[in-house]
Amino acid sequence: MSTENTPTAPDGGCGCGAKAQSQPAVQPTTQTSIISKVFVSKEIQQTRMNLCRECEHFDSLLARCKICGCFLEAKTRLAGFHCALDQIGETPKW
Ligand code: SF4
Repeated sequence: MSTENTPTAPDGGCGCGAKAQSQPAVQPTTQTSIISKVFVSKEIQQTRMNLCRECEHFDSLLARCKICGCFLEAKTRLAGFHCALDQIGETPKW
């Protein structure tokens, strides 16, 4: 892996005084781009959770979906996931 584009302080570290890590730092713009593709915003996650909490298939004890078994605090945060109602032939709520 190339490190030629990784900015470094004169001592070879990041400028915090700690010893330089062996792996190059991820550029903030790249990291932000990856995060936005993997996760939805807090607002969308809250909207999804609210729909789940009102759903008859919501297990409030464990905050899980009774259809798919997923832990919804995690599932509602992930961009590539959707409501499990389609698994029982109904229209997903999100
Ligand atoms: S994922 Fe869908 S089916 Fe499961 S609890 Fe949430 S709204 Fe209900």
